[in-house]
Amino acid sequence: MKDLKYTTIEESLKQEDSNVNLRGWVYRERKSNKFVFIVLRDESDIIQCVISKAKSPEIFEKAEKLTIESSVKISGDLKEDERAPTGYEVSVSDLQIVQIAEPFPITEHQSPELLYDNRHLWIRSRKLNAILKIRHTVVGAIHEFFRSHGYYKFDAPIFQPNQSEGGATLFEVKYFDDITYLSQTWQLYAEAGIFSLGKIYNMGPTFRAEKSKTSRHLSEFWMAEMEAAWMQLDEVTEVAKDEIRFIVKEVLKHNKKELEILERDIKLLEHYTEAEYPTIKYSEALDILNTKYKMNVPWGKDLRTMEETKIAEHFKVPVVVTHYPTEIMGFYKPPSEENPKEALCFDMLAPERYCEIVGGSERSLLLENMIKRLEADGEDPKNYEWYFELRRYGSVPHSGYGLGVERVIMWLCGLDNIKDAIPFPRTMLRKAP
Ligand code: ATP
Ligand code: MG
Repeated sequence: MKDLKYTTIEESLKQEDSNVNLRGWVYRERKSNKFVFIVLRDESDIIQCVISKAKSPEIFEKAEKLTIESSVKISGDLKEDERAPTGYEVSVSDLQIVQIAEPFPITEHQSPELLYDNRHLWIRSRKLNAILKIRHTVVGAIHEFFRSHGYYKFDAPIFQPNQSEGGATLFEVKYFDDITYLSQTWQLYAEAGIFSLGKIYNMGPTFRAEKSKTSRHLSEFWMAEMEAAWMQLDEVTEVAKDEIRFIVKEVLKHNKKELEILERDIKLLEHYTEAEYPTIKYSEALDILNTKYKMNVPWGKDLRTMEETKIAEHFKVPVVVTHYPTEIMGFYKPPSEENPKEALCFDMLAPERYCEIVGGSERSLLLENMIKRLEADGEDPKNYEWYFELRRYGSVPHSGYGLGVERVIMWLCGLDNIKDAIPFPRTMLRKAP
């Protein structure tokens, strides 16, 4: 079978010729006295293959040895068959066993923890295969969105000497005879980059020592960020909405099959590509929560998950909330001129309980104010000297945001836990395999 031309299962279903040569793994197997049925899987799909004892006793004898995840090459005749799990069946005329797999540690109905322990094997599952394909589309869409809108890709260091999102979630690493930190965001470096390139974006690994055990936080995740010179709050929120709509459109264009495997509501996703996403102020969000839902949230407190959930459910589409209280925001988020108690910042909240998927802001141009804020947080402003220089040499208004890649994947795939949105999740309680 050496010189045969192999196709994927998906390709074989499209080809004219009913004779197919496939390579893959045994996904399921069922044996009787007369037949061996295997469901073969490859990267593209699954298909039932049948080996008949009457037709070829020799192949039947080989097929009887097959175990789950054994690797095989198969030739045969492809026919439509209503009874087969995917509507097609291959009547096998030749079988080459590449390896007989040892008993596979994953069987039906496993605990989630066992599946995470066996993540290196579980990524072969249909569910993970579908999610990883959607992830591929999301990542590609983000690059395409920014490139087609005139943004340059700009890389920031992963080893960084400063915090930017609060010292509490910094990962400290040994750095020769010194220490440094893993990147919590590319932002401070991006703010340097815009003075050269104007509009820039990035997508890269981001590290936060999240001590909370929520279903929406990873300690290593991918963030897609943008930063643009001259851009202000009202404009940057629209960029975020356009980016999200574009990502959803691309997933619908390329991944209908995967969405079906995940039993995702495709109509609802289609609605997200057409709908307007509202922008409201934090104070308006409080009005809705307190008046309509009788929730009693005082001005000045950050929105908690249950409050974010309610707001997004109220609108049933992604919603942008702006002007959070300056006090509770990062040092670089500027107070608004009209009301300094409100910061020129925003979050985008996804519906269906998925909550925050994007966070961004204008960036403060007020040196003294930033220094005071850092000091209040116990930081040494001296460490930010290079950053402050950006405010001394041709400072301009600018804005940016970060989109949580796994948060978006989790929402689009309808996942219960963010850990399934990345191949090998890292959380406080999981750092292997
Ligand atoms: P949260 O309040 O949910 O912790 P955050 O305000 O800390 O989010 P930002 O600093 O604004 O988040 O980061 C930008 C985006 O990165 C968030 O909107 C979210 O989508 C994503 N993100 C932040 N922290 C995590 C994390 N630990 N795991 C996965 N994604 C994250
Ligand atoms: Mg956080």
